[in-house]
Order: sequence, then structure tokens, then C-alpha cells
Amino acid sequence: MSEAEFHQKMASLKELYRGQLPGKLDELDVLWRKLRDAGGKAGEWADFVRGIHSLGGSGAVFGFTALSAFSRALELFLQPIADHPDTLTDALRYEIDDRLAELRRFADGAEPEQALPAATPAPPAPETVERRIFVVESDEALMADIVQQLGYYGYQVERFGAVAGMMGALRGQSPMAVLLDLDCVGAQGALEAWRQMDNPPPLLLFSYRSDLDARLAAARGGARAYFAKPVEFNALIDALDNLAADLSAEPYNVLIVEDTASLGEYYASVLQNAGMATQLVTDPLRIMEGLADFNPELILMDMYMPGCSGTELAAVIRQLESYVSVPIVFLSSETDVNRQLEALGQGGDDFLTKPIRPEHLVSSVRIRADRYRILRHFMVRDSLTGLLNHTRTKERLDIELARAERLKSPLSFAMIDIDHFKQVNDVHGHPTGDRVIRSLSRLLVQRLRKTDIVGRYGGEEFAVVLPDTPIHQAERVLNEVRESFSKILQPAEGKGFSCTFSCGIAAYPAHATAAELNNAADEALYAAKGAGRNRVVRSGAA
Ligand code: GH3
Ligand code: MG
Ligand code: MG
Repeated sequence: MSEAEFHQKMASLKELYRGQLPGKLDELDVLWRKLRDAGGKAGEWADFVRGIHSLGGSGAVFGFTALSAFSRALELFLQPIADHPDTLTDALRYEIDDRLAELRRFADGAEPEQALPAATPAPPAPETVERRIFVVESDEALMADIVQQLGYYGYQVERFGAVAGMMGALRGQSPMAVLLDLDCVGAQGALEAWRQMDNPPPLLLFSYRSDLDARLAAARGGARAYFAKPVEFNALIDALDNLAADLSAEPYNVLIVEDTASLGEYYASVLQNAGMATQLVTDPLRIMEGLADFNPELILMDMYMPGCSGTELAAVIRQLESYVSVPIVFLSSETDVNRQLEALGQGGDDFLTKPIRPEHLVSSVRIRADRYRILRHFMVRDSLTGLLNHTRTKERLDIELARAERLKSPLSFAMIDIDHFKQVNDVHGHPTGDRVIRSLSRLLVQRLRKTDIVGRYGGEEFAVVLPDTPIHQAERVLNEVRESFSKILQPAEGKGFSCTFSCGIAAYPAHATAAELNNAADEALYAAKGAGRNRVVRSGAA
């Protein structure tokens, strides 16, 4: 959404809200007449006060400051009467009549006195060429190594023998990152230029120098990473992968539970403007559908709604195992600290008071959703590789298999085991072995599709679920990965070495259950080992 579109959207929401005001006041009038003439039940008093309260909150958000302030005062006036309806006297009845009439005057002639707080528009997305890396290196042998190693991980390298050429090319396009050898002529000038640039691409440096002075100078120049030569390709690729992950990170999913639709849409727009995905639930009793379909990473919840309160809903959500840790942020005009604390005690994580500034809303949501994502990552992922762990991989296989059955589509399942891995550990040590495991996991994630599922099944064993893929296609893809892996230079003390893996594949529908797929792929893997390793073998039955 552009800034102009955002403001337009805000303006139309404001109009919508203004248009709804008379109706809201009519409803309050009807309620009040009942309470005034018939005494009313406790629930009706609560509805009445909540209606006034909600005007206070939403009015402020849309800039109707006077209306909002007046509603707040009226709410305070009404609360003790609502708590003890028997204290309602005729004098109080007249007074409330007057105040409601006054409230309507605020609403009728109301112009929002205050402009809606403007949201900071999201910065325009840089047109970054995905996986294109500029490399400045005058040592041709090192350049050749870099091009080759990065190539295995799917990065395209544009080579520059000198700084000037790279700086020139930057004017035309923006690579994902620039790798610069500080020992090249003119490198210091490039650091200087980076400091002056507005939105420079991430800079990664390498150099013979590894002293603090050199590193400090690099950091001041804005370098993202610094590698001392000889360059550790694993570390370099880690750094690049992190940059790539930042670029392709999925937007946060935020579920908004707010009974006032225009307010809910307002929050949604603010969050979407900051690059998040939102879903609005206006009927709190239908929140379960939103939870299941949308998989929120944060729930933004109004406190006072008809049907049930935000705190009650939070308590219910916390009873569901899958949502025990999803952050819940309450949004309310509640300023009473004790009530806020009570709400947090029911499983809320934060309390934002309406009207809330858009930047504040965005940052509060972002921090909590981010923390939740990291937490979830640790719960379901293997710590060495970041891949799904054994249990989760099997769960995903079950889910994908069910989908394949439903859609009558094929599915392939592969098991991969690194060859002679004991030897790697024996000769080069366990830490080097770990690095080999990571290099394979990275390669798998990069080479397979986003919809494929890669898991670490055990030690140096991996499992891959390829939905919607017939076995010959899976075989071709895994053979490509196998070839790339065998060419990767695994760094070690002294001379680097290379590793291979063996792979067994089985497919649905030839194998109908997860257990059968597992067994068949395992047998095929065993056959691959027996036939000399470094190969992909299909299960006999397909
Ligand atoms: P093969 O080609 O038959 O698969 O030979 P192999 O040596 O790989 O044999 P096997 O699969 O039986 O051995 C796996 C070895 O992997 C045993 C174990 O020490 C090592 N290993 C398992 N998990 C890890 C790990 O997380 N890190 C490291 N460095 N080594 C591991
Ligand atoms: Mg093994
Ligand atoms: Mg092995």
C-alpha cells in the first residue's frame, strides 16, 4: 500500500465510522429507554455502559476527540449506577437523558478535530536482485573458488577485478550483497562511499588482517560481516543465507478481534502498511475459525465486546494446546491499571491503550510476533540445522499424504544418509562433521521448493517430503542436489575434502501409508549404500 493509498483508506474508514455513529447512538437510546422505564437487568446495564465505553475508545482513534472525552466522562458517571441499578433516581434519569442528548450533538455535528495519527509509510521495497552477489577480488584463484562455492548454493556471482567497476555497476542494479576484499586497491574508498550512500546493499568484507583496528574500521564503514582470510566458506554462506532469509521472510500473521468493524479495519490497515498479514474477526464467538484457518502469530484483542470479553476469550484460547504461547495483546480504552493487570493475568501479554499511535502498535506487534516465531522455531526445529526435527517431519508427512489422497496427486518421500560419515568425524573431528551436516541441510533447503519439507531424521540422516511430485521428478532433483553436494569443498585444517550422500526414494500412491513410504525409502537407501554409495535409488515398487 502506498502512503497515498493508506491515507485514502484511513479517510474512508473515518467516513464509515462517522456514518455509523447515529445508528450506534440510536441503539444506546433504545437500551437506555428500557433501563429507565423498566429498571433493566444487570446484563442490559453492562451493555449500555460498554456501548458508551466503546464510543470513547473508537472516537479517539478516529480523531473525534470531544466525543471521545465526553463518552469517557459519561462512562465514569454511569458505572456506579450500573453496578447498583437500585440507586437510579428520577433526578439521575433526567441527568442521563440530558447527557445522551449532548452526546448526540457531539456525534451529529462532529468533525474530527484531530487528524488521524499518520502511519509511517513502509519504506519502498528495494529492488534487490535475489541471490545476485557482487564480488570484488583481485586474486583470481580466490575469485574462482568463491564463484564455485557460492554457485553450489544457488548464488550468482558477478565478478569485479577492481572496486571502480563494482561501484559503477551499483548505479544500474542492486545486488543482494557485495563481497569486497579489503586488500584490493581502492577498498577504503568503497567503505567511505558506503557511509555516504542512502540505502546501500549489505557489505561483507574479507581481508588478511584480523586485528581489531581493521574490524572496527569495517564496522564503522557499515559492513555486515568481516571474514579473515583464508575465507571460511561455511561462515560466508551462513551470512549470505541470513541476508536472503531476511529478504524472503514471510509476513507476520496477525488476527484482530474487534467488534467495531471500522476500528478493526483501521488496525488492519496500519499493520498491513507495515508489511503484515491480517485477518479481522468482528464476532468474538467465531474466533475459533480464525485461529484454525489463519494460524496467527499474534492476536490483537479488543477488551469489551458483546457476547464475551477479551479476557474470557484469552482464557479460552490458552486452554487450546496449539495456542498456549501465541501472544495476545489487548487493545482497550481501559486505563484502570488494576483491570489491565487482571486482563494480563488471564493470559494476555500486553495492554495497549486506545487511541494507540500507529508506530507503537506496529512495534509492539512486531516485537512480540518475532519473539514468538523464534520460540516456535526452537520448539519444532533441530538446533544444529534449523530443519524440522524427526517428530515434526513425520507429522508433516502425514499431513501431506492426506492432502495427496484428497487431491489425487502424487507425492515422493526421500531418505538421505551421508556416506562414510564416521570417517569424517574420525579424521577431521566432530565439529567439522557438524559443519558438513549443516552444509547439506542448507543445500537441501536451497535447492528444493518452498513447499517441499526437509527434516533432519537423525544424526546424518535427512528426510524430504516432495508433495505433488512423481518419483522420476524427485529422482532428478535429488540427483542434482547429490552432484552439487559432492562438489562442495568442506573446509578442514590443511586441505579441504568433499563428501557424498546416498538416497532412497519411494512414492505415493505406490506406497499408501506413511509407514510404508518410510520402509520403502529406507530399503532403497540401503540398496544405494550397497551399490557403492553416492547415488539415488528408487524403491523397487516405485
Ligand atoms: P555409511 O556410508 O554406511 O552411512 O557410513 P557412515 O560412516 O555414515 O555410517 P553411519 O551412518 O552408521 O554412521 C553415522 C555416524 O554419524 C555415526 C555418528 O558418530 C555420526 N553422527 C551422528 N550424528 C552426528 C552429529 O550430529 N554430528 C556429528 N559430527 N556426527 C554425527
Ligand atoms: Mg546413518
Ligand atoms: Mg552415513
